[in-house]
Amino acid sequence: MVTIRKKYGILLVSIFVLSVISLNLIMDKFFDKSFKELVAQDMKEIYNISFKNLDDYFALNSIEKDNIKKEDFDSKIMKFIADRANTQGVFYDIEGEVISTGLTNSSVVDLNIFKDLPPSFYETKNNKTMVDIENKNGTILGKLSIPIYSSNNQLGVLVLIKDYTSDYLRDLNIKKLLNIIVTTLFALIFLSIYVFSSRITKPIIVLKNKLLEVSKGSYPEKINNTSKDEVGILVDSFNEMTEKLKTKDQQEKNFYRNITHELKTPLTNISGYAQILNEDDFNDVDFKRNALNRIIAESDRMHELVMSLLNISKQSSDLEEYSFEKVNIKNIAQELIEIKNPIIKNKNLNIITKFEMEEIIGNKQYLKMLFNNLIDNGIKYSYENTTIEIQIEEVDKNCEFSIMTTGKTIPIELKEKIFEPFVRVEEKGFSSKESSGLGLYICKNIVIGHKGEITLDLNKDKSKFIVKLPKD
Ligand code: ADP
Repeated sequence: MVTIRKKYGILLVSIFVLSVISLNLIMDKFFDKSFKELVAQDMKEIYNISFKNLDDYFALNSIEKDNIKKEDFDSKIMKFIADRANTQGVFYDIEGEVISTGLTNSSVVDLNIFKDLPPSFYETKNNKTMVDIENKNGTILGKLSIPIYSSNNQLGVLVLIKDYTSDYLRDLNIKKLLNIIVTTLFALIFLSIYVFSSRITKPIIVLKNKLLEVSKGSYPEKINNTSKDEVGILVDSFNEMTEKLKTKDQQEKNFYRNITHELKTPLTNISGYAQILNEDDFNDVDFKRNALNRIIAESDRMHELVMSLLNISKQSSDLEEYSFEKVNIKNIAQELIEIKNPIIKNKNLNIITKFEMEEIIGNKQYLKMLFNNLIDNGIKYSYENTTIEIQIEEVDKNCEFSIMTTGKTIPIELKEKIFEPFVRVEEKGFSSKESSGLGLYICKNIVIGHKGEITLDLNKDKSKFIVKLPKD
């Protein structure tokens, strides 16, 4: 696998190499240009000096400038000019034959160089003075080619040659030094970028390893987070996610442990009674009637439990948005109260209703189940001769259903836990036999499926369950 760090490294090295190469090319071009300018400038001065001296020489030797002949350009005149211009001089005829040379002692020049004509030699025929720079085995020569005319006839070309090797080497050394400085500077910059980016990727690598652990089913320790940037947020979210997964996993394990326990108790009872009834000498009629009643009761309890479990497993797939419709919750609540009228009368309960809202968008079947569970509980856990208040109203553009009862006390520490599966409150006068502790858990799942929330307000023996549901 190519890691982020490797990718970064490859990218940085490529950028580094490319930038160093292009910078060197730019510097080469710059130095080349400035060296050419330096030679051209110097040659311009040599041109002025040599022409002034040429005029002086003609005056001293009484040579008429307009009538000069090829022969006038002998070694003497060449030496005169070369000495003053501090160059080597050579005079060629227009065919490129060496007529005369003038050498100075200041720089020794291989005489062979006179045999090679300057590259721009023939361009001088158009009365153009040309400058050439030549590299002869490491010696850098500047050649100034000046066409010499006499009454419109070109006599030849005066070429003044100067050695610029030391200037060239000086420039070359400066260029090399600059190259080293720039390359080192670039290397340092890229190295710091790499080190800095490695610091950013480090928590990502830790995150990747921890995620691998989660994917293998274990829950790793929290990652220590010190940054507040995007990576820090990612690490925080990961920590939160693993914590939630761990809790969910624990809840699931507890859930199945509880199911096993809940099913085992009635099954043990049923099997115990059945074994006694099956004994050959058994003939106690009263016990038989009691035993059969218990077997039926336990079977009913098991049936209830299995139905609740089926509901829970079905819920998550059922509560999809596409199964939502307009539901008249006022009608549902009224119908439920009507159906439960006999038991309400039996306990002499006073029901006060205040329905200010009718319709919301939801799943009719599950909303019915939600209100049924809450009203059932309300009736089941109320003291006799008390009042139950049921309300449906619009609060902050949401629908709020509440049911307040007076009866079995829920301890304050169970205010939130009461919605977890198999949580029940033991209290004298209320049988826990037919209660599974799954009703409120189912209610909570239905409410979450509707993107709402369910809470419980407690005040001694008064309990108020409040369901908030979005209207649409
Ligand atoms: P079940 O009713 O089957 O026990 P629930 O999850 O519906 O399961 O309720 C859990 C527990 O919450 C009940 O056992 C009861 O102790 C308590 N409870 C629920 N509703 C009320 C209520 N309206 N008043 C008092 N206690 C309640």
